[in-house]
Amino acid sequence: MAVLGRPNVGKSTLFNRLVGRQRAITDPTPGVTRDVLEGELDLGGQRVRLLDTGGYTLERGQLQREVSQRSLAIATSSDLTLALVEVGGLTREDQALFDRLRRLPDFPDKVVLVINKVDGPKQELGLGEFQALGFGSLAAVSAAHGRGIAELKELIRKCLERAGRAGDLLPDHQRRSDAELHLAIIGKPNTGKSTLLNRLLGEERALVSESPGTTRDPVGGTLRYRGRTLRILDTAGIRRKSRVSEAVEYYSVNRAIQSIEQADLVVLLMDVREGVSDQDKKIADLAVRAGRGVILALNKVDLLAGPKAEAKAGLRGIEEKVRFFFPLLDFAPLVALSAATGSGVDRLLAEILEVGRQLQRRVPTGRLNLAVKHWVAEYTLPVRGKNVKIRYATQTGANPVRFLFFVNSLRLFPQRYLSYLKNRIRADLGFGKVPVDVRLRES
Ligand code: GDP
Repeated sequence: MAVLGRPNVGKSTLFNRLVGRQRAITDPTPGVTRDVLEGELDLGGQRVRLLDTGGYTLERGQLQREVSQRSLAIATSSDLTLALVEVGGLTREDQALFDRLRRLPDFPDKVVLVINKVDGPKQELGLGEFQALGFGSLAAVSAAHGRGIAELKELIRKCLERAGRAGDLLPDHQRRSDAELHLAIIGKPNTGKSTLLNRLLGEERALVSESPGTTRDPVGGTLRYRGRTLRILDTAGIRRKSRVSEAVEYYSVNRAIQSIEQADLVVLLMDVREGVSDQDKKIADLAVRAGRGVILALNKVDLLAGPKAEAKAGLRGIEEKVRFFFPLLDFAPLVALSAATGSGVDRLLAEILEVGRQLQRRVPTGRLNLAVKHWVAEYTLPVRGKNVKIRYATQTGANPVRFLFFVNSLRLFPQRYLSYLKNRIRADLGFGKVPVDVRLRES
């Protein structure tokens, strides 16, 4: 999403107001904001990338011309443009900008006209002239005083939603540095989430009780393990369970979604005696589709009956069953553990670190394209009248892991070849334990 407007309408002030941080330099000299500034705007959990374009002007100077061109280019490729004007008089520059905006492919859907400096009722009287301009969405704000900002955010959210443009929405965790891994422990009540949290943190953070009662106190924490910082998120279900009489912490997909949003990886905890529930399956699928790491964890192995060998055989059977239930998660590590005794917890931590490493892994483009050559040599792309070709590949993202392949024809590109590429990326490039998203683009 981009903010566009002539100099001095208040782009930087609006940008700072929306992003909630002083990122842009505000200066009364027109044209002083030259660099494209980037920030992220919080729309109640969703994050949107916002670009301050540097503005649009009719001035003839080389720099001004460049800034204008660049601004328009950014607007063209943006999912949504905030066109900023000020109340009390449209200028020639505003009009020129409108002309350009009207030529955008998705006008008026992808443009919101934001009228700034509406500081009070007096200025509101001047809003009439903007209604006839043909913009689909209008917002009156005072960037300097914060008026109308909440409404503008709501409007942005709606516009992006309506346009189905989720591409600009960044998952929360992309703001963070890679230094901390965020972990969500999710699972049915009584599977042992609080016990595991206590075990991991090495202290009694969550009170554990026989009955799955809960209170509202948030519980989470941070631990260091082999040089990494793991933050265990305060997810529904891990609570200070001091008042047993309170309602059962229920286990719903909706509540898990938020945790998935915030997490880099999810530990899906199950009771080894109960196995997989429908919710477990749904939550695991959601996590994988969001590109999160998933670790399947079977807790309470200490309760498996019988002598050691027998219990082991029993566990193997259970593990096979769990695998069968999660066909989409064949890559996810499966760990059997006992939160109560601590057995298997080291393996869980080791898997967490490994999954975290893979999520954050980046393969240099040169190395990737060499590998692609090799893969294509081993399994030739089919010929269907015309040669199907991969021109170029690049890793477009880490955590979530994303790859983009440029091909000569989308139509001719076989689906099973895409699966082949995905498997090779996993096997050869060190992404064996995480979801990998591979897209094609025609070029
Ligand atoms: P939560 O609802 O998922 O947070 O589950 P809790 O951590 O409160 O655990 C529920 C019950 O299972 C408690 O009585 C725990 O003592 C017990 N429990 C948790 N983990 C284990 C385990 O590994 N082995 C055994 N035997 N009991 C466990």
